Formats: sequence, structure tokens, C-alpha cells
Amino acid sequence: SAMQHIRNFSIIAHIDHGKSTLADRIIHLCGGLSDREMEEQVLDSMDIERERGITIKAQTAALRYKARDGQVYNLNLIDTPGHVDFSYEVSRSLSACEGALLVVDASQGVEAQTVANCYTAIDLGVEVVPVLNKIDLPSAAPETAKQEIEDVIGIDASEAILASAKTGVGVEDIIEAIIERIPAPQGNPEAPLKALVIDSWFDNYVGVVMLVRVVDGALRPKDKIRLMATNASYLCEQVGVFTPKALQRDVLSAGEVGYIISGIKELQAAQVGDTVTLIEKPATEPLPGFKEIKSQVFAGLYPVESNQYDSLRESLEKLKLNDASLHYEPEVSQALGFGFRCGFLGLLHMEIVQERLEREFDQDLITTAPTVIYEVVMRDGTIVPVENPAKLPEQTKVEEIREPIITITVFVPQEYLGNVITLCNQKRGNQVDMTYHGRQVQLVYEMPMAEVVMDFFDKLKSVSRGYASLDYEFKEFRAADVVKLDVLINGDKVDALSMIVHRANSVYRGRELASKMRQLIPRQMYDVAIQAAIGSNIIARENVKAMRKDVLAKCYGGDITRKKKLLEKQKAGKKRMKQVGTVEIPQEAFLAVLRIG
Ligand code: GDP
Ligand code: MG
Repeated sequence: SAMQHIRNFSIIAHIDHGKSTLADRIIHLCGGLSDREMEEQVLDSMDIERERGITIKAQTAALRYKARDGQVYNLNLIDTPGHVDFSYEVSRSLSACEGALLVVDASQGVEAQTVANCYTAIDLGVEVVPVLNKIDLPSAAPETAKQEIEDVIGIDASEAILASAKTGVGVEDIIEAIIERIPAPQGNPEAPLKALVIDSWFDNYVGVVMLVRVVDGALRPKDKIRLMATNASYLCEQVGVFTPKALQRDVLSAGEVGYIISGIKELQAAQVGDTVTLIEKPATEPLPGFKEIKSQVFAGLYPVESNQYDSLRESLEKLKLNDASLHYEPEVSQALGFGFRCGFLGLLHMEIVQERLEREFDQDLITTAPTVIYEVVMRDGTIVPVENPAKLPEQTKVEEIREPIITITVFVPQEYLGNVITLCNQKRGNQVDMTYHGRQVQLVYEMPMAEVVMDFFDKLKSVSRGYASLDYEFKEFRAADVVKLDVLINGDKVDALSMIVHRANSVYRGRELASKMRQLIPRQMYDVAIQAAIGSNIIARENVKAMRKDVLAKCYGGDITRKKKLLEKQKAGKKRMKQVGTVEIPQEAFLAVLRIG
């Protein structure tokens, strides 16, 4: 049958190990791209992604390849996001495949994210084909890397393919291995339609586009479809495949990967992991594995100028069209006025949203420190989720506060092991496991998520000189002895600066925070008093002395360019200041908490 000549595969790799480069090579070899297009990495379509070197939105390419056996094969490459924040998307992409290339940089070896994604693939029954990339590098050590794959991941790496995505060496062997080692899809084209939504995004011209893997059945334009998670129905307007350019087709059948356009206006209606079926002849059960995505990290986003509130709302609405995992709702802060409480998948997701708001939508934002969600058990037995420290109920009414605990897995070369263990202990981590794999050590800790969202990634990178890699997953909510730490500026509590901290280090945090704030708040016309408090207990006090002279006086009016520069600098600086009562507070001060141990 036609399915015998189909291969559906993904690429699993740690960031920078060469996934995008290899994907482009494969597409090029299959004739999907011209040399010119090859120069740009097509699979990373967003600017921000390219700068950060990660693929955030999964994309795909349906390719044709004439193999050494003379047969023409249809290869469907399904790109996956490369960051831990997007592990659910990765799992959905992988479940749409029969195989995955495991790309390991032969000069770096196995890293945490590779292992996590590889386990996901193995759990899903996906055939893993190891590839050792970057063998053109003098520092490449393919034998060591093979050993690491076997030790750490536990799969046979003896037939790993040696390749260089950069020079093209080994890329044909990789494609032949995809054909030989990865099974053809199975599925019944006559059965009721079951198509897995691998990805969905908003297109300005056609509305929502769903990328699907057809598991059973077939789908044609004019079919009436139903999305099983929401039970909403639509008319299928168009189906097709990406080559990587979009190409319309008459039908998508079992085993194939392609897109559906069906007049869906809102991205939330086309959730990743949902199952598409036909209204006429519906499937009795959806495909397994669907999950509603929940926000893990929250922060307040406020316009610097309060008259920009509507503009910020419109920008968030537009951004949400393209990002179903972004959540927001209006929020009022005494200090910052009208803004939004936003929920993100993780810290990286949060940074991306902030950056896009600033760059693409030209918004000037004040962002409050990121926080996790707490479960507050009230005396009356009700459980209240709290995602804003300022909203923590009165202590007297609270029975217990539960914080999210995550399990983190770190891979680190032995020489930095001590540093990493010290850091994990500082972050209230509990060691669960430690195993040696050659030069690498695998550490498993349970840790409060609140500690990780603060600055754990940065600290981990710095204590390991960039060599440690990290993966994490949610474990449970657990009772914790936490308290609310407030900041008072000239005697007034600034709600946007409140945070929830562990009691054991609350005094230290309060002092550090007040002292950091003193450095970050510029001198003003009057003295500014900064206080940190737990309940009515003042635990730290700092003072920003009033400014003495006009800054411009220093220029003596002589050097006009210098004066202009200074004014411009002040203006730029000013954009990120927020007037709170009589005091101007810069953006950095709201994030000061991120800078303390
Ligand atoms: P990704 O993050 O896994 O998608 O990695 P990229 O494909 O973006 O590659 C990361 C970096 O490694 C880029 O600078 C690539 O040019 C480089 N790179 C990728 N493959 C090779 C290779 O085979 N050899 C060498 N020397 N560099 C490579
Ligand atoms: Mg990439």
C-alpha cells in the first residue's frame, strides 16, 4: 500500500547540537529547498528564535526521496521545539512519528534535554536512530559520545551514524537509515477519521491552521469535522502538506502528515494533542495523551504610561492569536495601576512574550517578578489558588500553603559537581539520585519550583561554566512554611513588589532585596525610604539620599553632543520608570528579587 513508502520522523537534540542545520540539509537533499533558501534556516521562522538558537513553533516538511533501493519514499519531518518549557508539544510531535533521529553533538556528548526527550520517544514506542553530529570538528569524540548514549539513555549506539550537518557528510546515510530502520506507519484508511493535532497557529489570511497526523481514516475538503476535546464542529475547507511550502491536496489519508484549514478563528479551539474526527462517521474514542496546558509561571505586565493600557490589551490579544499557551487577565495594582496578570509555560516563554511585546508591538512594560502558583488551604477547608503574592489571604484564615515541587535532572561534568550540589542545596533541593556516566554526572533533585523560577538557570550555567544542562517536570504541591514579604516605599506598601518566600530565608531575602533596591532606585528630589516587612515586622531599612545637583550642570553647556546624548539617555531610562506615589521606580527594581541569592 501507499503507507509502506511513508516514514514519519522527528529530530531530538539538545539546543545547539545541530537539529535545525540537519533538518535543512535533509530538506535540501530531498529537493525541497533551493540553494538560496538553504542559506537561511527555514525551520526557525521567528527572528527571536533565531537569535536564541531555539525552535519554538513546531513545523514540518513532507519530502520525497529516491532511495538506493530505487523506490521513492515520502518522508515527513516533524520539527519539535527544543526547550524544556515545551515538553508537552514535544511529546505530541513524537507521538505522531514512528521514528526519531537522536542527534548528539559528538564534541559535547549527551545532555539533559536529549535524555528527557529520548525517554519520551522510547515511552511512546518510537524507534530511535542515533546520529553523532559535528564530526568535522577536531574536538569530536564519537566513540565517547556513543558510550554515553549507551550508558545514559540505555539504547544500542553501535550503529550510530557519523555525520556533519554542516558539511553534509553522512546526511544521505541518515536518510537511508530513516527508510531502513523506522517502520512505515500503520493505520486503517477505511476506519473512522482520527487525526492528531500536532501543532496549530494563526494565519492572518486563512485563520487557524492545524498540523495533523492522520492515524486512521481520510479527510477531504468539504468534510464536516469535529474536535473531540471541545466537541466543536467545523467545515473542512482545505487540506494539504508542507514541502516546506504549503501545497494543497485532495485528501489526507492514514499515515500522512499535513494541514487542515477549517475556518477556526481562535487558536484555543485547536489545541495541541486534540483529535479531529468526522461528524458523519465519528471515532468512538479520541487518541490518547491529550492534556490541557496549564500556566506554570505568572507575572504582572503593566504599561509604563497608564494611557497605554488599551494598547497593551490589544497587543496581548494579537499575541494570543498566535500563542494559545499565553494566558492573561486584567489586574489592578495599587502601585502600578491597570495591567494584566499573565500566565506562561515557563521562564523562557515569559521572556519571549515580553520581548515580542516590546519589539513587535512597541510596548513599554513594567514586569513584576515571576511567581509560581500556590495552593492555599483555608481554615474552612476550601483551597484557593494564588498566583499573585499580593493576593495571599490573611494569615489568620490560612490553614496551610502548598507550593509546587518539581523534579529536576541535571547533567554536569564531574569537575563542577560540587558547585552544582551546593547550588541545589541553597535552593532547598532534596537529592533523589546521583549517577556517574563517564565524565558526566546525572543528578536528580526535588526542588520548590519557586526557587527555580527565580534565577536557577542562570546560576546553574554560571557555576558550571555553561556545561550543566537541565530538565524538569512538575511533581506535586507540598505544604511549605512560606510567608509574604512586603516592600514599603516611603511608608507605603507597594503591592507589585510583594513576594512569597520561605520563612527560613525570609529575613536574609528582605535585607538583600532592600539593599538591591537602594542601588537600583535613582536619587530623587527627596529622600526615599525603602523597607522590607513580614506582616507588621520591619526586617530591613535602606535610604536613597536626595539628589543634589542638576545632572546637566556638569556639562557646562559647552559640549552640545554630549548634552544631547545625556538627555537621550535620560529619556530612554525614563521610559522604563514607573511613578509610584511620589517616587520613580525603574523596571529593574521590580525584578530586583531575581538578583538575590
Ligand atoms: P539546534 O539548536 O539543535 O537547532 O542547532 P543548530 O542547527 O542551530 O546548530 C547550532 C550551531 O552548530 C550552529 O552554529 C551550526 O552552524 C552549528 N552546526 C550544526 N551542525 C554542525 C556540524 O555538523 N558541524 C559543525 N562544525 N557545526 C555545526
Ligand atoms: Mg534549532
